[in-house]
Amino acid sequence: MIRVQNLKKSFGKVEVLKDVTLQVGKGEVVVLIGASGSGKSTLIRCINFLEIKDGGEIYIEGKSIDPKKDDLTKVRQKVGMVFQHFNLFPHKTVLENVMEAPLIAKKADKEETKQEALRLLQKVGLSEKADAYPSSLSGGQKQRVAIARSLAMKPEIMLFDEPTSALDPELVGEVLETMKQLAQEGMTMIIVTHEMGFAKEVADWVAFMNQGKIIEMARPQDIFNNPKEERTREFLNRVL
Ligand code: ATP
Ligand code: MG
Repeated sequence: MIRVQNLKKSFGKVEVLKDVTLQVGKGEVVVLIGASGSGKSTLIRCINFLEIKDGGEIYIEGKSIDPKKDDLTKVRQKVGMVFQHFNLFPHKTVLENVMEAPLIAKKADKEETKQEALRLLQKVGLSEKADAYPSSLSGGQKQRVAIARSLAMKPEIMLFDEPTSALDPELVGEVLETMKQLAQEGMTMIIVTHEMGFAKEVADWVAFMNQGKIIEMARPQDIFNNPKEERTREFLNRVL
């Protein structure tokens, strides 16, 4: 489904991704953990081609993507992304926010897009907010709109970069619940999060990133109870 092979990325002289190899099967959920600055966001951004790799390969559905030759707008349509900050369009309603990308990027039929957007809003529990503006929503509601907006493009895979880190603690659960539901429906996902309870419950695999490399990837119970690498153990001792 998605395969990253020997990925390299530097910013100036700083080698941020040294040699990242990662495979995510269809319908699998990988939670990516690691210290601040270890390269998690850079990895996610490379997979969505928001950053262009310096070396290595990124395969999406078996096809190696060449940023110079392939249409990255098309590639990005297959790879949804949800960030810490929601970046909803403030002057558009919730429904219009969800409809925007398919209408503009895919030139989709308006009525069909609207029905699909309403279905997605129902799925994230926000049907009653369709006509509200983002400014009237809570952070958790905004993030659920952002998820619906991303799903509107019918992505093959969803990437999440600390989707709950900017939320008040009491709003974290509703967003995690939405993501858990997506996982249960078989969405392929890579999730950067510090929510270890969520990782234990929802992840098929937990990958630990250290200084630009994934140094350990295992089933949640194995990595949490019995990490193989000393650096994984040290990190988990700090965060658990
Ligand atoms: P955090 O947990 O704090 O979000 P992270 O694991 O997501 O950290 P990255 O954001 O990927 O880490 O950053 C990895 C390294 O790359 C850091 O040293 C960071 O300063 C550097 N870096 C990231 N983006 C850029 C950029 N656009 N220009 C220069 N350096 C960058
Ligand atoms: Mg980050």
